[in-house]
Parts: sequence; C-alpha cells; structure tokens
Amino acid sequence: MALVVQKFGGTSVGDADRIRAVADHVARTRRSGNDVVVVVSAMGKTTDDLIRLATEVSSVQPPREYDMLVSSGERISTALLCMALAELGVAASSFTGSQAGIVTDTDHTKAKIVDIRAGRITEALEAGKVPVVAGFQGVSTERDVTTLGRGASDLTAVALAAVLGADACEIYTDVTGVFSADPRIVPDAHKLSRVSFEEMLEIAAAGGRVLQLRSAEIARNHHVPLQVRSSFTWEPGTWIVEEDEAMEQAVVTAVVHDISQAKITVAGVQDKPGVAARLFRSLADRSVNVDDIVQNASAHGITDISFTVPRTDIATAVEGVSGHLAELGATQVTSDQGIAKVSVIGAGMKSHPGVTATMFETLAEEGINIDLISTSTIRISCIVREEDVERAVRALHRAFELA
Ligand code: ADP
Ligand code: ASP
Ligand code: MG
Repeated sequence: MALVVQKFGGTSVGDADRIRAVADHVARTRRSGNDVVVVVSAMGKTTDDLIRLATEVSSVQPPREYDMLVSSGERISTALLCMALAELGVAASSFTGSQAGIVTDTDHTKAKIVDIRAGRITEALEAGKVPVVAGFQGVSTERDVTTLGRGASDLTAVALAAVLGADACEIYTDVTGVFSADPRIVPDAHKLSRVSFEEMLEIAAAGGRVLQLRSAEIARNHHVPLQVRSSFTWEPGTWIVEEDEAMEQAVVTAVVHDISQAKITVAGVQDKPGVAARLFRSLADRSVNVDDIVQNASAHGITDISFTVPRTDIATAVEGVSGHLAELGATQVTSDQGIAKVSVIGAGMKSHPGVTATMFETLAEEGINIDLISTSTIRISCIVREEDVERAVRALHRAFELA
C-alpha cells in the first residue's frame, strides 16, 4: 500500500462541482488501495478577495491579524471536501495547519516551518481516514496562526510528504504540468514530461508560479517524488527529478516571467567598504527578500545601487532604507513598480555559449530595452518594462525554438 499526498490548488477546488470532482478522485485513489493525505488551497480567488477586503477595511494590517484572516480560506475548503468525501462513503477529517502540527517561526505572512508534529495525521491514517489539511498555514512557536507566503499550499503538501515518508506527492493544478513557458501567454508552449530539480528551482525562483519555490527546495532535499499535474484532465503531468534522470539537457528549457517585483534605487551612495553591507542589513532585518542587485560604476566616489524586491515589500523596503540615508551618505531612495523580469533557464546553458547573445539580440529586435541583468549558471534574467514582458516571453520562446 502506497502513501500519496495530493494537493489541490485554488482553481481545482473553485466551486461545488470542482470539490465533488476532487472528492471523486481522492475516493478512487483510496479505493485502489492507497493511503491518501490531502492538502487544499482556498477556493478560487478567495485569498485575493480576503486581502482586498482587508485593504478596504483598514490601511493598517497587523501581520498577526492578516494571517488570521487569510488562513480562513483554506479552512473552508477542508470542511467542504470532507463533506463531499462523506457522501462518497470515504471517512475523512479536516485539519487546520495548527491541528496538523505544522509549527512555524513567528515571521507572520511568510513564516518558515520549524517542525511538523504529524501525530494527528498519522492517527487519522491508522484509523483508515483521509486527513484533509488546510494548506499555506501553521501555528507559531508563540501559538499564533501564521501563513507561509503566497502559493505555499504546495509547501504544506511537500513538507507533509517529506515528514510522512510518502511514496509520491502530487500537485494538482489548472494546467497539465510544467511548460516551456506560461501556457496562458504562450499558447504553443510545450509540456515538459520531466524537469530537473535544478531547473525547477530556477523556474520557481524566476517567477513561474506553477510550483512554489520552497516546496521544490524541500522536495529536493528530502527526495520527495514530486509530480505536477492537472485536476481537470487527470492525465500524467511533469515529474520533477534528479538531474541525471532528466533525459537530455536542453540548452534552454523554459522562458519564465515575473511581474511581482519592483525596483528600488538608492541614489548618491558613497562608494566605500561597508555601505552596501549596511544597506542590505537594514532590509534583511525587516525580512525583505532582495533579488537582483546592480551597483553602477562610481563617479567621484558616489554611486547608485538598484535592486528588486517583491512589490508587497516596497513600503517596508523604502522605509528601511530611508531610515539609513544619512549613514549611507545617500541622497534619495525611489521605487518603480512598472518593471517585470524575463528569464531563460536551461541546464545545457552551462556548456553552450551564445545564449546570452541570442537573448539580447531577440529583445533588441523587439525594441525592448533591458534595465538590469542577472545570471546564474543555468539562468539569464533581464528586467524590462512590465508592458513589454509578454512580448519578450513570446519572442524568446520563438527564438529558442521551444514550441
Ligand atoms: P494553483 O492554484 O493550482 O496552485 P497557480 O496559479 O499557483 O495554481 O499555478 C498554476 C499557474 O501557473 C498556471 O495556471 C499557469 O498560468 C502558471 N504558470 C506560470 N508559468 C508556468 C509554466 N512554466 N508552466 C505551467 N504553468 C505556469
Ligand atoms: N491560497 C494561498 C494563496 O493564494 C495559498 C495557495 O494557493 O497555495 O496564496
Ligand atoms: Mg500555486
């Protein structure tokens, strides 16, 4: 008998019919002799709606209360799915993140899991039940409800699969797997039957939201067999595998874009040791995740530093830096929300020169200006204007012949 963790995203449980379809699939998996642990997201756009409601009610959202609010969406899905399973004669019990033993630190809105005390889940399994766990949430070491960051129901599923030693973790979503680009933007993108962890981590980090970044990290570190697949067609999806199992190493595997970042520029910074350290310490102390960083060549010992942060962290980042302007010798800090990042990713890039040139030529032919550039061994990213990014993705997908 295998143990399978099945996670269903927002669209997959978007209405009553979808919840019944999911229940039917869980029941079939159960009846074919498997133990099943289910993790669910909030229905449809519930999380976005709750966040919007919060901003309508108040411009001040204490993080503890934000988490109490947004974690409620997942709770609705668990109870409804258990009811749908009951109608099919499948015994199931719903669990909040806290009840499932997901213990986190106290960093509200993007808490990290520090421990999983899965006793109630294993007890439910031993009693022949299907535990249905609310994704995206836990309980802090201070006993408050926390959430794990947007898209983190994937993380709940993979972390439970790791701790329970599951035979597979299946991430069900509204596309049939991981594609060579977001299929909503590039209709002729192709589904990858396998993708290496190395590439998946880069795709997730570059903004391809089909699988949340930390879930991919945990799956790799704990050797969780992981598959992304569709809850609409139920066809085989994309396996995330060790590098040597991923068949051939394509030069470029995927083109990924991200419109969730903003650029911050600190102008007139002194070009001397310790200044950048102080600047980025002030951001780290506020839990702001900095992505790309560029420091311009200095003139007369004065330079500009630009970096990208999640748009949701702009206010915190600007406030953090503003408090240190005098100390940095800087003159001003500005933010730009109109940017986007486009990245090309491929393990074969390590041994094939010319990818950067092709990328820059393709963007040039489209008349798209590049603002910042960053790279890893298997990724090249350019910051462009947001209004250009979809055109950039389509042009690069064509240029690297990924259709
Ligand atoms: P869920 O609610 O199921 O977690 P998400 O919206 O988080 O679903 O992720 C699925 C979406 O990710 C797809 O609908 C698709 O638009 C988007 N996406 C972005 N990049 C890719 C990609 N490379 N392959 C597949 N889907 C992608
Ligand atoms: N409902 C949460 C979100 O929208 C978590 C998730 O869907 O994974 O971010
Ligand atoms: Mg998701």
